[in-house]
Amino acid sequence: MAGNSDLQKRIEQIEEDIKTALERMPEYEKLLAMYRESLVAQAEAREKIAPVEADMDENQAAVCISSGLALLGETEVTLDKDTAVELYMKLGEIASKHGEDFAEEVAKINGKVDAGKIDIGAVLEEVFSGGSAEDLKKKVMDLDLDGHVFASLVFASIRPNLELYSEKLRPLVKDDDWEKKSCPVCGRLPYISKLVQKEGKRMLCCPACSTEWRFPRLKCVNCGTIEHDKLRMLYPEDEPRDRYADVCDNCRRYLKAIDTRELARSPIMQIADAATLHIDMLAQREGFVTL
Ligand SMILES: [Zn+2]
Ligand SMILES: [Zn+2]
Repeated sequence: MAGNSDLQKRIEQIEEDIKTALERMPEYEKLLAMYRESLVAQAEAREKIAPVEADMDENQAAVCISSGLALLGETEVTLDKDTAVELYMKLGEIASKHGEDFAEEVAKINGKVDAGKIDIGAVLEEVFSGGSAEDLKKKVMDLDLDGHVFASLVFASIRPNLELYSEKLRPLVKDDDWEKKSCPVCGRLPYISKLVQKEGKRMLCCPACSTEWRFPRLKCVNCGTIEHDKLRMLYPEDEPRDRYADVCDNCRRYLKAIDTRELARSPIMQIADAATLHIDMLAQREGFVTL
């Protein structure tokens, strides 16, 4: 029954964060309605996955970390493929319901699956064991598909599985030992960042396994410059200054940031990411590219 109350709590948090986001940005209503359903489906899928064990101790993890290796690639992991495929189908239905563009794209993908051009189970396993979004996009572009929609569905489908491993492995990483731009657990690049605790520690957030790891605040995540005159923050107009883009004039990359220090609890970062699309647009209009 413990599992059920975890699920209940998670759903309450999803509802709460969506409500807060909509109070501030009502124009995201459609997008966030899709996120709500999609995140609930992911939370429900997670309940179906058997508990996982990570076959790694602190010493082994320390060796990986000091060699700059992400932990997940160095340990035995298993994807619950049935649950992931089922979730993939469900997320496709949810996306289709929330927009004609999505519906069209999902139907196209399903057509390729039915024609035997894509083996969903195999794709999910490949990405689960470390495949990148870029490789995935390239692969499906050859099939004349929008790589972005497909990659979003695939990553969301394996996220519950990855999160279970991340929760086992993350405690093995000490903040001071890993200040890289890639996730210490799965090796992927962050999609957003947040400021936490009184002193405003900067944490980077992994889009795939939800791991958060510390990174110096006054340093470009992409090129590593610490020259202060190259680093700036871009704020959207007429908004409180708790959400912005950290931009670097040296490499022209940006990463969004959410200052969570005034919040009662840590926000769900996928929702924070969706509700700040205007900040992506702002940064991109100024010529900055995401990581
Ligand atoms: Zn990760
Ligand atoms: Zn840079």
